[in-house]
Amino acid sequence: MAKFNNNVYAKTYNDPESYDELLARLRSSFHNGKTRSVQFRIKQLKSLLRMYIDRNDEILEALRMDMRKSTLEGYMYEIDLMKNDIRETIKNLSSWSKPHWLNPNWLTIADRGYILKVPYGVVLVIGTWNYPFQLTLVPVAGAIAAGNCVVIKPSEISSYSASKIAELIPQYLDPECYAVVNGGSFETDLLLDHRFDYIFYTGSIGIGRKIHAKANKHLTPVTLELGGKSPVFIDDTVDYAITAKRILWGKCMNMGQTCVAPDYILCTQKVASKLIPHFPAIMHEWYGDNWKAVPDLARIVNKKHFNRVANLIKTASGSIIMGGEMDESDLWIKPTIIVGVNPQDQIMNEEVFGPVLPIMILEESEDCGLEEAIQFINSRPWNPLCLYCFSLSNHVRNQLQDRTQTGNMAFNDTIVQFVIDELPFGGVGSSGMGSYHGKYTFDTFTHERPVVLRDFSFLGDKVGLIRYPPYNKYKINF
Ligand code: NAD
Repeated sequence: MAKFNNNVYAKTYNDPESYDELLARLRSSFHNGKTRSVQFRIKQLKSLLRMYIDRNDEILEALRMDMRKSTLEGYMYEIDLMKNDIRETIKNLSSWSKPHWLNPNWLTIADRGYILKVPYGVVLVIGTWNYPFQLTLVPVAGAIAAGNCVVIKPSEISSYSASKIAELIPQYLDPECYAVVNGGSFETDLLLDHRFDYIFYTGSIGIGRKIHAKANKHLTPVTLELGGKSPVFIDDTVDYAITAKRILWGKCMNMGQTCVAPDYILCTQKVASKLIPHFPAIMHEWYGDNWKAVPDLARIVNKKHFNRVANLIKTASGSIIMGGEMDESDLWIKPTIIVGVNPQDQIMNEEVFGPVLPIMILEESEDCGLEEAIQFINSRPWNPLCLYCFSLSNHVRNQLQDRTQTGNMAFNDTIVQFVIDELPFGGVGSSGMGSYHGKYTFDTFTHERPVVLRDFSFLGDKVGLIRYPPYNKYKINF
């Protein structure tokens, strides 16, 4: 059995031998109908909301311990986002969960047809480490809202947050219906041997593939929220200062450890030479002269990821025009921009997931490199999670919309498409399947169960008379 050597979440580790018992408990609660009433669900969601409010400081401290996430980023992109999401869910839950009644037609005149919004059953939510509360608990809130029992598996990499989730959840949610299981790949693998009714996974493409294969054993439906390389195309119609600012904001947030961070830029040399001077100027305006000393920039989550990102910088072609310094003892990599990378470089062949922004130069052309950019994006082996484009041209926008396949898109900004609740968020192809946020999270964890209700009336039976044997030609010609 795997043992945890160094970290805090070992304290909240559940023995894999207890998984049978745990799942039996949750399944029994589900079959007893405990989670079915909307009032029960709202009570649980209100309690989860109270947890975000009451335990605000402890959550922020766990985030700081895990990756030195700043107070503002921890509050805005984790706690506040979760609070807003849950408030909207509570407000709308009664209407979302109502059955949808069909309008009768002449064939169904004596029937009542409706679609019930039912929970799947016992579901598993596997979270990841970069936004360890938000990316775990937003899907959990949706699963609760839909009436499921939930096993929550936070990421072991953000061990302080995982430990905090395991400590807090039993204090705020009904333990007969909701449970936290902590552990790494060994435990998650054992957990996945059990039958779940839905699995929601956020993390890397490689592990996503494994989760999908394991879910297949029980034909369990899955949502996979995966990664990929999200390109940024820029033409010469833009406001360069604002463009640089919006890209840097998306890249520096959580030190580039954000699934929707801009991954690399595609632009011509002319565009690059107008854009590049803005980058150091903006960084200076935001962080002064000593970026390492400011509390606003997080750290790389661990040594493994530090070495991975450092290696991407070391092996890239082109020239470093900003940053490049690093300090392993502090897991610090100075936000770095590299101009003139090659498609063969390692940095162009794996998701950066760190504070490094490579720029690949396109040929000068009348369309400012648009055609080359589209062909480059489409020639890559992955579907990007996001595609960003900075341009004032409708033609450019339409070409990118119509001729690429990416999970989502934003024009003239980065990341904002993630935070608008009315928009479904998810990948496509290798960047994932399924989506969530706002009502889409509720829908993800809901099975639409069609029901027909007939009675024994004379009319009801006469309308369907034709179906009964004996079959004859008069019935065919009817
Ligand atoms: P990861 O995939 O290694 O881990 C995520 C979860 O999977 C953890 O809970 C972990 O315990 C579990 N896990 C790890 N190995 C496993 C195994 N062999 N079997 C079963 N479960 C296992 O996380 P990561 O790769 O470090 O996360 C970063 C990736 O996640 C990036 O590619 C990023 O783009 C992606 N991501 C996507 C989104 C999104 O919403 N689409 C959000 C955040 C991160």
